Amino acid sequence: MTKTATHNARLNALHTAIHARRDDLISLTQNLIRIPTLNPPGALYREICDYLDRRLRASGFQTELVRAHGTPGDSEKYPRWNIVARYESGPGDCVHFNSHIDVVEVGHGWTHDPFGGALVDGKIYGRGACDMKGGLAASIIAAEAFIETFPDFEGAIEISGTADEESGGYGGVAYLAEKGFFSPARVQHVIIPEPLNKDRVCLGHRGGWWAEIETFGEIAHGSMPFLGDCAVRHMGAVLSKFETDLFPAMAQRRTDMPVVPEGARSSTMNINSIHGGQAEQDADFTGLPAHCVPDSCRIVIDRRFLVEEALDDVRSEVTGILDGLKSERPSFEYALRELNYVLPSMTDRDAPVAQTVAAEIAAVMGKEAEFVASPGTYDQKHIDRIGKLKNCVAYGPGILELAHKPDEYVGVDDMLESAEVMARSLVKLLV
Ligand SMILES: [Zn+2]
Repeated sequence: MTKTATHNARLNALHTAIHARRDDLISLTQNLIRIPTLNPPGALYREICDYLDRRLRASGFQTELVRAHGTPGDSEKYPRWNIVARYESGPGDCVHFNSHIDVVEVGHGWTHDPFGGALVDGKIYGRGACDMKGGLAASIIAAEAFIETFPDFEGAIEISGTADEESGGYGGVAYLAEKGFFSPARVQHVIIPEPLNKDRVCLGHRGGWWAEIETFGEIAHGSMPFLGDCAVRHMGAVLSKFETDLFPAMAQRRTDMPVVPEGARSSTMNINSIHGGQAEQDADFTGLPAHCVPDSCRIVIDRRFLVEEALDDVRSEVTGILDGLKSERPSFEYALRELNYVLPSMTDRDAPVAQTVAAEIAAVMGKEAEFVASPGTYDQKHIDRIGKLKNCVAYGPGILELAHKPDEYVGVDDMLESAEVMARSLVKLLV
């Protein structure tokens, strides 16, 4: 056989090896879903890491369990455990698959057991099925099938399961990056199997800025509000300025990043919460409210910004509106407390891992891959800023719009197809 014919025969063998693992892929995904790693509070990280540890050691990986001591939420009750598994076969590049092991709260509206992992019509249901235990399972199957079919490869494969992505990733990828796990000397290519659809390569994400704004007033009897100063009315003025000035200005700004869905190609802001006046009472409280003018009102804003916007401008646009209100409302006073920020991250579409995954999508699915960027942030920010590793994309089988929804699922065929894309990417990068 010619060299090309031999190579094609091995790619066919890889296809067969992946599809032969269909039942294994299903039970692996179900087993991961059946460990309810809810975040918050960050439950059962050790249990899921132990499960992955057994699985990956049986497949020949060296494993390391790393607790992110002292990171937000880490406690004896809810320790932030992570697993990093490595399979080495001679000198060469390292391809790292990073998946977060936490899932968000269940919410209402489910027709399936959120932690049952039911398989119905080729779909596996459960919280985290799509985001992103299905992606984790697909990457494990991809690596195992690749190692079996190309045992002579040169380089290393790493698979990590990391904590707390849904709450910022500080006890997960950020911690590992600080410890050197994503240093360019150790890892050269990163694929994050987040649910961005099986035929799209995600190059990065927008930035985020979160802040609490409080307006102040003066408490007085509710029958004589003119003797006090109503903090809720001051907040009403803030919100009304946002409506007339800020939201239209943000909607005008468009990014060159290929963000999906289309609406997220502009700057956006969510008012996450609002509270003013007396504290909410327990649900079983049957009394009536006392009559007071509220002296405090608070909102939390969630501002997502574009790679073309500077964080300082994002901040000063909001504080400018607040300071401007002082001239219109003589007693207006506010405090702004920044809660967190994340800078945008964007991998070049010519980066080796981006081009490789795109080419293998075309080879497996017979269609051109789409390059996209994510509306929300994910752990790429830490790999980029702390790890200083730019050659990173998100690619996984889940459907973006199902993330965090009731009856979240992942399609078994989607997982198999994306596992083949991942495995063929390993061939291109390591063989
Ligand atoms: Zn996710």
